[in-house]
Parts: sequence; C-alpha cells; structure tokens
Amino acid sequence: MTGTERPVFHTDRCNAYIIKYAEIGVKGKNRHIFEEALAAGVRRALASSEGEFTVSSIAGRLYIYTVREADSADTITRLQHVFGVLGICPAVTIARIEKKLPDIDALAEHAIRFFADGYGLEQGETERERPLTFKVVCRRVDKTYPLDSMEVAAELGERLLDAYPGQLAVDVHEPEILFRVELREQVNLFIEQEEIPGPGGLPAGTAGRAMLLLSGGIDSPVAGYQIAKRGAALEAVYFHAPPYTSDRAKQKVIDLAALVARFAGPIRLHIVNFTQIQLLIYEKCPKDELTIIMRRYMMHIAEQLAQKNHCIGLVTGESIGQVASQTMQSLYATDDAVRTMPVYRPLIAHDKQEIITISQQIGTYETSILPYEDCCTIFVAKHPVTHPRLEVIKRHEQVIEEELKALVAQALEEETVEEVTG
Ligand code: ATP
Ligand code: MG
Repeated sequence: MTGTERPVFHTDRCNAYIIKYAEIGVKGKNRHIFEEALAAGVRRALASSEGEFTVSSIAGRLYIYTVREADSADTITRLQHVFGVLGICPAVTIARIEKKLPDIDALAEHAIRFFADGYGLEQGETERERPLTFKVVCRRVDKTYPLDSMEVAAELGERLLDAYPGQLAVDVHEPEILFRVELREQVNLFIEQEEIPGPGGLPAGTAGRAMLLLSGGIDSPVAGYQIAKRGAALEAVYFHAPPYTSDRAKQKVIDLAALVARFAGPIRLHIVNFTQIQLLIYEKCPKDELTIIMRRYMMHIAEQLAQKNHCIGLVTGESIGQVASQTMQSLYATDDAVRTMPVYRPLIAHDKQEIITISQQIGTYETSILPYEDCCTIFVAKHPVTHPRLEVIKRHEQVIEEELKALVAQALEEETVEEVTG
C-alpha cells in the first residue's frame, strides 16, 4: 500500500455500532426518557433491515450489536436518519467463549485482523511512503481481566507493529488512528476517527406534537424535518383541490411525507379537499387578495385539525420575502388567522438556496421538484398584494364568512387520513 493519507476504512466486517449522543446527555432527571426514545428511534430505523440487532444503553453510549448480519452500509444509512444520534462508530465486537473474554494472544489476532479488514493492510513488509501513525487505548470495564488496561494497550501496540512493519508507527499525541479496545461484557474494537456523523437533534417524539402544513414544494418538507429534529412528533395536512390539482400532485405529497417520516417517525397525513373554499374565495374576493385569504383559511383549518389531534403548534415552510404571500405584512395577516397555538416557521430566515441545500441533504429535493402543480399555482393572481392590510382583508372575508363556515365544516368532515411511514 502506498499513499500518505489515512486509507479508507471498510465497514463490511463491522458487527457493532457505538452511538454517541450529545445533547440528550445533559437532560438531568429526564435523561432516561431521552435515551429510551433514542433507542426506540434506532429500533424503528432498523426494523425493516435484513439484519437483527440488540440495542442497549451503556455508560452514556448506545451499543448496537448484530445478531443476524445485514449490509453495514445500509445499517449506517438507517442510523443516520435517527434524530439524537450525534455520531456512529462502526465496530467489531467479539463475544465471550465459554464465559471468557479472549486472552491477549487471541485479542492481538483480532486486532491484527481488524486492521487488515478495516484498512486493507497486508501483514509483513509492504511499501508505504510513510507509516500510518496510531495509538491503542484500552478500557477495561471487566476488572477480572488478567492484564490491566495499560498492559493490554502496550501489548497490542507491539503486536500490531510486528504484524505491519513499516506500515504503522506509534504516535501517542496526535495519532491518525486512535484504536480503542473495550473489555466489557464483550470486546469492542473501533477507531475514534472513523466516527460517522449522525443528524444530531433530539430523539423523535420527545417534544410535543405539531401539525405540518405540507405542500408539494421544496420548503415545507424541510420545515417538517427541522421541527422533528427538535423532538416534535408530526402530523401533516395537505390541501388538495381536485380537479385543479391532480392525483399525482397528491401522491407527491404522500411521497414527501414518507421521506420526512424516515426521520420523524410515522406521520398521519390529513388530506383536506379545499376546492369549494377556493372557488368561493375566487368568486367573491378581490383577485389580488386571493392568496392571502386562502392562506388564512388554510391556517384556520389546520388549527382546527391540530386541536382535534392533540397538536400544540402549526409548522409551515414560510420564509420572509420569498413570495408575495410571505412578506412581513402578509405573514402578519396570515398569522392573525391562528388564535390558539404558535405557528413554527423554522425557515423564516433561510435563503432559498440554503433550503435547497438541506432538502438535497435529506433527500426530499428530487421529489419536491417534480412538476405537478399544487393548489396555489392554479388560483394565483397576476399582481398579488404584497402589503395587505388586515382590516381590509377581514372586511372582504366578512362577505363570505357564513358560507365559508359551512364549507370549512364540510371539508373537515370529509377529510381523509393516510398513515405514512418512512
Ligand atoms: P412550499 O415550497 O413548501 O410548497 P411554497 O413556496 O409553495 O411552499 P406558499 O404557497 O406560500 O409557498 O406556501 C407557504 C407554506 O404554506 C408552505 O411552506 C406550506 O407550509 C403551506 N402550504 C402551501 N400550500 C399548501 C397546501 N396545498 N397544503 C398544505 N400546506 C400548504
Ligand atoms: Mg416556498
């Protein structure tokens, strides 16, 4: 092997994953609630995998051991969808044989193999521009092990140097490879530097429940992702306007909900028929105020659905100035329609490009840009108001208030629900 960089680490032989979580470690008395929610999130993410795993929480880490093998790249991808996971360290674990941990000779063999499997090192003299620097750190939790942690580390260091002459060199200060050996109920071998970043955040479902207004666009799935990342459980509502919006547009929203559910956990998606409401507004209200009045009614209906379904907040993908209905004046008018709960707008200060980048990272972008029209594009005015005045809007709404009340009640009565899982 040549080269000066740390070689790529292969995870194919890994049969354990050590999960680091940061934020939930500081939650005091509630810590076990967060740990259980994190473990539940991990189990859910792995449930449909080909493998079988055990998940246990030990000393501020989550240990995932493979019982039946699965493709490790797939396992890692699944773990990268679990909020609360800060880092994933792929590891090799060695079980006790006849209640005994491997002795130092057997341990050394495992360590040597770990470097062969992980970094593709070949035993004996092979060419390398310069050796890789490493350090062994041992943690002996099982105090009955005959050697102490310093002795184990020193011995394994020697054996590795012997096995890979010229390829490895010890550096105790800044090693490229910090090789960790844990002697617990089983032995765990892993490399500190090979930790893979997780999504961070708080475990799904540890905050309250929120109702996401989910359209087929780029923004709202990202908004849902961000609120779920803070631990909120999500429900969603989609305003459908057949025949002005197609079944394909509806399916696209269901698909987006499934992509968000990969992170957020199962989402109940309420589909509300908005056609009659939209038509009435279209007929009776000034054209330039259409969008703002429609948005006020969407918020109003979403709030009612939220109340019925034990949600304590609404979530939208709005961002200041993005379109006419999202100027600060428009947001002022829209926000007024919601009376009983906060409206969370996690993207409020994001540029479109920043939102696109997140949607690409979380895998919703490709679906969001499919060209099926959503309900707003049909009834858009050529010159929508950008500075709506709330009193004026309200006066115009009054004309149709009674009729709309009945239509809203009907829309709520006829809503359908899709149970979407990731
Ligand atoms: P997005 O990119 O999320 O589709 P947008 O750019 O289309 O948003 P607007 O139409 O102004 O912007 O909508 C602002 C927010 O209102 C959306 O982010 C979403 O939360 C909500 N929303 C819009 N249309 C719908 C709909 N048909 N059903 C549910 N929510 C909607
Ligand atoms: Mg938008």
